Amino acid sequence: MKTLLIGEYREGRLLESTYELLGFAQALGADSSLFIVAREDQLPAFAGKLYLADAAAAGEYNPDLHRELIFQAVEQEQPDYIVFLHSSYGWDLAPRVAAKLKIAQVSEISAITAGEFEVGCCNAKMRRSVKPATEKAVLTIQAGAFPVLQPGGSPQIRKLTASLSSNLEFVGYEPAEAKDVDLAKAEVIVTAGRGIGKKENVPVIHALAKALGGELGASRPVVDAGWVEHSHQVGTTGQTVSPKLYIACGVSGAIQHLAGMKKSDFIIAINKDKDAPIGEVADVLVVADVMQFVPAMTAKLGR
Ligand SMILES: Cc1cc2nc3c(=O)[nH]c(=O)nc-3n(C[C@H](O)[C@H](O)[C@H](O)COP(=O)(O)OP(=O)(O)OC[C@H]3O[C@@H](n4cnc5c(N)ncnc54)[C@H](O)[C@@H]3O)c2cc1C
Repeated sequence: MKTLLIGEYREGRLLESTYELLGFAQALGADSSLFIVAREDQLPAFAGKLYLADAAAAGEYNPDLHRELIFQAVEQEQPDYIVFLHSSYGWDLAPRVAAKLKIAQVSEISAITAGEFEVGCCNAKMRRSVKPATEKAVLTIQAGAFPVLQPGGSPQIRKLTASLSSNLEFVGYEPAEAKDVDLAKAEVIVTAGRGIGKKENVPVIHALAKALGGELGASRPVVDAGWVEHSHQVGTTGQTVSPKLYIACGVSGAIQHLAGMKKSDFIIAINKDKDAPIGEVADVLVVADVMQFVPAMTAKLGR
């Protein structure tokens, strides 16, 4: 089985998430080649075939040109699967490629089971296994779901040049508005999950964060409910964090949350359910009612 993996490059740098594609290909047991629009001095450490287009000519992002370049690589490589990250680049480009090639797309794959792809359903509360409806397919993989695999070595480069012209021009990136909190720099994060029960309990979690000299984090339902500002959200649609200590309070451990925090050095989870999935990544799982345990812990720290 052959995969063509679509790497990512942003603001002059190769994105580390590119190596998650290699982790996916390994989990699938597939041979892989890479495609990337990048600069030649920023190539992935990978000893296979690399289809390379110059970012200066094709733009860091241009859906018309990148799609055409991918078709050139597909023609040469004839892959079974064309694999994107489920990122803003992948969201935009993958369906354009699938539609043009008239092949199926399976989005947001978080695991492979018995040759089928696991994807979320019911707002990611459940998972189901699917098979693409066509022999060849476009796939996108969930951030953080597959291991980062950095095999090393130097790629065998096949250069590609776009022959089309495009009415689109890549202008640049605009930094997001300054936030009241920069979770990416925090050494300690204490996160409020839906298990805290109500908005009035947020200060209890915040007090523990302050006692540890850290910041308040939040899962998405807590943000969606308006209990905490979005700038505190951790996960695929929030921030990716890697503090020294991460304390998850009443957080179940959905894949979208784990993708944002599983690289933390030490993870403590407080959950009344001993089987909550967060236990799979936690160094310590405290099975307790969060609203009893957290105030007691903060009081101890205050002594
Ligand atoms: C496209 C997409 C993007 C998403 N992006 C994000 C994202 O960026 N970040 C994110 O967090 N989610 C994201 N989600 C949502 C995600 O799938 C989960 O729904 C969410 O992470 C669940 O949040 P939670 O763990 O706080 O709540 P729940 O899943 O409801 O879990 C609550 C947990 O609290 C425990 N609990 C309940 N009461 C108590 C108590 N008294 N004491 C102790 N424990 C208790 C329960 O046992 C449970 O494990 C996204 C979903 C989709 C579809």
